[in-house]
Amino acid sequence: MTKICPECKTENSDSSSFCQNCGANLSKTTSKGGFMGWWNNQSNGAKAAIGIVGLCCVGLIVLVAIGAMASPDKNTSSSQVTNTSTSTTPATNTASDNSQSSSSSSSSSSSSATGTQISVDYAGEWTGNYGDSSGGQSVEGSGPKTYSISGNPSVVSAVFQKSDSGSGTLTVKIIKNGAVKATKSTSAQYGVVSVASSV
Ligand SMILES: [Zn+2]
Repeated sequence: MTKICPECKTENSDSSSFCQNCGANLSKTTSKGGFMGWWNNQSNGAKAAIGIVGLCCVGLIVLVAIGAMASPDKNTSSSQVTNTSTSTTPATNTASDNSQSSSSSSSSSSSSATGTQISVDYAGEWTGNYGDSSGGQSVEGSGPKTYSISGNPSVVSAVFQKSDSGSGTLTVKIIKNGAVKATKSTSAQYGVVSVASSV
């Protein structure tokens, strides 16, 4: 081991505390010498080892950089997945809210089922007319639908007709307080269902 004088670059023996050439304080400058002084104090084997370590560090940095370049895609995709899942979660929440609201609306319709209702169900399109002694109302639609009749009618009647020649069954029900008072159905082409009941 030799000490390189930071002032004049003279090699001094490791045990010397002062430069043999210029008298600089080597023990002091060893700590003050900075990286090059420290580097010059290293043996060749240590330099080689340090170089290998440095190369490994560079390799690690490159790997990290590559990983950092690759990981944003992963992050993006994973964040997209996360976004999708998070957007799915609110959608699920919304769906559950919808189901809740629909169930609550169905429960409200079932609570309004304490009144009088006309239920029509046909897979295709239909037209119809329903009402009580105070008057009727013309409606048209498709699929299952339920109409509530306000007030407290004594007699309810409904006439519904399939709007197509489908072979599906058109069913019309008169419901009072959740109980079916009258029901009729037809599967004829352009079939007509006429149902009436005192409720
Ligand atoms: Zn010196």
